[in-house]
Amino acid sequence: MPPKAPAPPKGTDDPRFAAAVTLLGRTGADQFVIRYCDEDQPVVWIAQAKWRGRWQVASGLGPVGAVFALCDSVIDGGHCTHCQRPTGFSADLDALPLDTLVCWYQWDPELRTFRRGCAGDKP
Ligand SMILES: [Zn+2]
Repeated sequence: MPPKAPAPPKGTDDPRFAAAVTLLGRTGADQFVIRYCDEDQPVVWIAQAKWRGRWQVASGLGPVGAVFALCDSVIDGGHCTHCQRPTGFSADLDALPLDTLVCWYQWDPELRTFRRGCAGDKP
């Protein structure tokens, strides 16, 4: 009998987790790693991704928080290649400030993806 594959880490089954990892790929990341450190409490999760040979790292108290923190650090203050505005990241559905000045990458629960603000209302 083949060995059973390890269960995915708790919290990574949140659809926003995979969508955020996909979003990092859309920014040009070619590697992604999620891991945790449980030597002390609370357990700390670490999300890391690599762009052109350089790793960026962020942490959180769960896998979703860690990958969102990485999206925040990479996307906030970036530059949208579609509309030329500065970019921002938000996991919330709420209306965001300065939406005429900032291209927000925001969670769309219907499409289960993070969409850029300049993509319009239709997918
Ligand atoms: Zn844009």
